[in-house]
Amino acid sequence: VMPLKLKGYNEIRWFRPLKLNQVLHLKSCYPDAKLIIGNSEVGVETKFKNAQYKVMISVTHVPELNTLKVKEDGIHIGSAVRLAQLQNFLKKVIAERDLPETSSCQAIVRQLKWFAGTQIRNVASVGGNICTASPISDLNPLWMAIGAKFQITDVNGNVRTTLAKDFFLGYRKVDIKPNEILLSVILPWTRPFEYVKEFKQAHRREDDIALVNAGMRVYLRETEGKWIISDVSIVYGGVAAVPLSASKTENFLTGKNWNFELLDDTFNLLKEDIPLSENAPGGMVEFRRSLTLSFFFKFFLSVTHDMN
Ligand code: FAD
Repeated sequence: VMPLKLKGYNEIRWFRPLKLNQVLHLKSCYPDAKLIIGNSEVGVETKFKNAQYKVMISVTHVPELNTLKVKEDGIHIGSAVRLAQLQNFLKKVIAERDLPETSSCQAIVRQLKWFAGTQIRNVASVGGNICTASPISDLNPLWMAIGAKFQITDVNGNVRTTLAKDFFLGYRKVDIKPNEILLSVILPWTRPFEYVKEFKQAHRREDDIALVNAGMRVYLRETEGKWIISDVSIVYGGVAAVPLSASKTENFLTGKNWNFELLDDTFNLLKEDIPLSENAPGGMVEFRRSLTLSFFFKFFLSVTHDMN
């Protein structure tokens, strides 16, 4: 395989570097350059939305961005790893490790089953989905709920780490500067009695965009015969410009005993946390409001089932 540099019509340039330092060098020369992996977002933007990008850097052949490593703090996933590759890798990890450690991995595998179709999953990347920051991304609410961390490098090779929760700043706006790229995602292990679930409701099951989706995680600890909520994350997608944490609900639940009596207050707080207005983009507001509540109800039932 050779590094490639192609010049096209209208001064468009296409680079295919083979090393991370070449990517960073190109990015320092062309801060507005687009990174390309599966082209499943950029292709749609240029073909149907009239976007014009002058410089494109394909990073499919850069080993540093294609790593999948099992480490002590979790799984390190290179930003150019394809979704199908991630699916296969996580399935192996789940089969090999203790089940309670892989609750997050299992949720991602289940969510990927309903993410686009095989063709898209074969080419689309983890980093492409994250950096596009679509408000309806099926994975971003999950990365946030599971406490994933994103590693970002600047063109000089300085690496910083940020929580997924702090990464999405606004509509398709993320915490990455023109002189930075996303390097990898750290997907942490779960502890015993820490449960992660994924949710997606679309018009049809296969290959469809969600109406609402969500990622939820709870960590329970037994004290004096009660199951106390030690930590909880509830994040919805498709209800705002960015994936939305139900913060009031999370604060209310923390420290409470995990039982049916929680539900009424939780539903009332969720309505405050996720105030889909009558004219919210996407319509079907009543239905989507009810989905936010029913996802939590499903979460409650399935965690209660798994505990016993
Ligand atoms: P590309 O188009 O190659 O790049 C996307 C963007 O991310 C570019 O702006 C690029 O510059 C930037 N980028 C990529 N990597 C980096 C990096 N390392 N650092 C900085 N910036 C970076 N999405 C869902 O969530 N759920 C679905 O069910 C779903 N279904 C789809 C179905 C179809 C038919 C299509 C076309 C798309 C669908 N998508 C879906 C959206 C899309 O497939 C994903 O967002 C995909 O993961 C994007 O990855 P990519 O490698 O193709 O991105």
